Order: sequence, then C-alpha cells, then structure tokens
Amino acid sequence: MSANADNSQREKGALVYPVYSRRSGGLSIGINLFPGGKLCSFDCPYCEVFPFTSAQTFSLSLMEEALSQTIAEMSGRGISIKDICFSGNGEPTLSEEFPAALEAAFRIRDMEAADAELVLITNGSGLLDKGLFDLLHRAADRGLRIWLKLDAGTHSWYKTIDRSAIPFARLTEKIRLFVKCAPVTLQTMICSINGSPPPDDEARAWEAFVAEISTSAKNLREVQIYGKARSAPEDPLAAALYIVAIVRTLSSVKTESFVNNSKSFVLVLLNSYADPIMSPAIAPKMQSFPFIIFPALYS
Ligand code: SF4
Repeated sequence: MSANADNSQREKGALVYPVYSRRSGGLSIGINLFPGGKLCSFDCPYCEVFPFTSAQTFSLSLMEEALSQTIAEMSGRGISIKDICFSGNGEPTLSEEFPAALEAAFRIRDMEAADAELVLITNGSGLLDKGLFDLLHRAADRGLRIWLKLDAGTHSWYKTIDRSAIPFARLTEKIRLFVKCAPVTLQTMICSINGSPPPDDEARAWEAFVAEISTSAKNLREVQIYGKARSAPEDPLAAALYIVAIVRTLSSVKTESFVNNSKSFVLVLLNSYADPIMSPAIAPKMQSFPFIIFPALYS
C-alpha cells in the first residue's frame, strides 16, 4: 500500500487503507468494516462515499493482518502514524463485527503502534443502543477517541444535512448523556445544501447545544468545524461555503459562556478550499495544510 493512497482504496473493498487525513493532521490508517458497500443510518448529501460494488466481505483475520502489514510498512518508511481510525464506507457501529474489530485494533495498536491514537468516527446513532452506548463508554475509558458528528442544532437542518430517519431529539438526548460520561470530539460539517447555507436560527441553536453540553459536562474535548473539500456523488447538491461565510455563520460562538465554561475547549476550523479572501501566494500552501485555526474564536 502507498502512503499516498486515498479513499478510493476504501471504495475498492480495502479493509485497511492509509490516508493523509485533514481531520487528524497526518497519516491515518483507516479501518473499513463495509468493504462490500456503504451502510449508514444517515444519508448526508455531502457524503463522499461513491456507489461501488465489491465482492469483498469483512474478515476479522484479514483486517488484523492488513493492519499489522500497513503499520509495519509505514514504520519501515519512517512515516509516523497519527491514528488508526474506524471510518470507512458508513457508520462503523452498525457492523456486528465492530466490537471484535475494536478489540483487535486496541491490541494491535498497543503492540505495534503505541504512539498512534485509536479513533472512532461515528454519527452517534449507535448511542441509541444501550449495549453500544456502554461499549463505547468502556472503550473511551481505555483511550478510544470518539469523534462524534453534530451537523445541526435544529431538527429542520438535521433533516436537510443528515437526512436520517432517527429523530433529532433522541439523538441529541443520547449525545447529552454520553458527553457526561466520556470524552468526545464533536465534528460539524458546514456547507450549503441546494444553494442555501445553514439559516441563522440553525447557527444559534447549534451554538446553544454545544454551549450547554460544554457547561454541563467537562468531557467535550474539541469541536471541529469543517467544510466540504472532497467531491461527492450528489454534487452539486452540497457545496463548500466560502470561509467568510463560514466565519459569519460561526460568529455567535464568540460568547463568554462558551469560553468560560470549557477551559480545554479548542475550536478548529478546517479549510474550505474555495476561500475568496486567500491571496494566490498563500493559497497553495493552505491547500497542502488544510487546518486553519482562528484564535479569535476562542481567545
Ligand atoms: S454519516 Fe458519514 S458515512 Fe454516513 S452518510 Fe453521513 S457522511 Fe456518509
């Protein structure tokens, strides 16, 4: 496998694939529990998983072997591994293999890549299942980093940007409970849908929810805001917003309560590549380093 591999490997049925990740800021080794096709409880219009067919089925032993091989290859080439990440073609917690695969990943990470973090990227729907809620709680206690999607603050925008059949109120209730017992990184996609950015009431509701959980629980590690930077099968339904538009949308996060009640809170704005305020001289650099940190938003 090449360290330059991208998500296309995942769509050809790879169980394990190295990818340079803007979200982790380095090389991430992805674990894909759905090599045969996408399976998700959300239907986000910006989702970058293209329809594909593969005869590959998930095999725990093949995953373990591929993970060890990829770690050895990257280490042999002197490439530092930022994280090992459950992501892939859908929502990892929907797989019956997830608990066993998580155990295997813990064991292999501890033995072969002890400096790498173990990460789960999830849309949170697994939290509605008590067994999964408890499993994730225990895993978080053992160091699993949980990156939880929260794209909306209102039911209306949630139906637009995530298009899930799961009631928004049930999902946010479980997120509230989970953040009280386990550290979580929230991830929020901000993009336009069908030409419209998130409405103002949406931005205020999102802020109120994040402020509430950062006040009632000390487990909110980080909030990552990111823009649409990759192509998606439903393009142009979802589209990147200009950075200025994103900052305007987020201006309400500059509130005292937000900063005062969450001392470890860090806001990271990931680059939308369509930034009209970037000078041509800076733009190429920013594209190869897509994290933009706006200290003004949390100082
Ligand atoms: S939750 Fe993730 S995998 Fe599922 S549809 Fe949305 S972007 Fe795609």
